[in-house]
Amino acid sequence: MQKPLREIAVGVAIVVIGGVVLQQLTGISLVGWVGPMATWVWDACSASITMPRWLFALTALVALSAVWNTYSAYRKSSTGPSKHDYVEDHFDGLVWRWSYDFSGAIKEPWCFCPACDSMLVYSEEPGDSYVGKRAFVHFTCEVCGVRRGSLEGDRRYIVARIQRMIDRKLRVGEWRAVIESKQKGA
Ligand SMILES: [Zn+2]
Repeated sequence: MQKPLREIAVGVAIVVIGGVVLQQLTGISLVGWVGPMATWVWDACSASITMPRWLFALTALVALSAVWNTYSAYRKSSTGPSKHDYVEDHFDGLVWRWSYDFSGAIKEPWCFCPACDSMLVYSEEPGDSYVGKRAFVHFTCEVCGVRRGSLEGDRRYIVARIQRMIDRKLRVGEWRAVIESKQKGA
């Protein structure tokens, strides 16, 4: 909050001091320009123009997204990492990555090879409750040619379980430590 305010104050001070110096040196008064300039700006802004509705909507959308980007960049710089910077973690010996949808919900995570960072492929080994055989999903790296992990359950269960682990870290605040240790390691 402090930084932008200070920058604005410094900017205003530079303009004012610059104006005074200019007036002293050249005799040109900036103050005399302010009135006509303000009138011109007001006229330019309040004049009506014809514009197709779709173009207006598009322009408004672009402007809104620019404002949003500036706001989120500002939030990031003023408050440090946000929850939505937490998009990677290690679970069950694998690297898991995910993103968030517009409502902030965790999108389906997926796992990557801890050695070469390739997306892992999976194969399901179905269980059989009749003989007490448990289901497994095997995760393999095609690049390394190595099986990177075998987790119990089917694919949907495993992904949902990882999602719950991410959700827990977000709620209890452990996500901060993950980002900090990653920043130290980078
Ligand atoms: Zn690999």
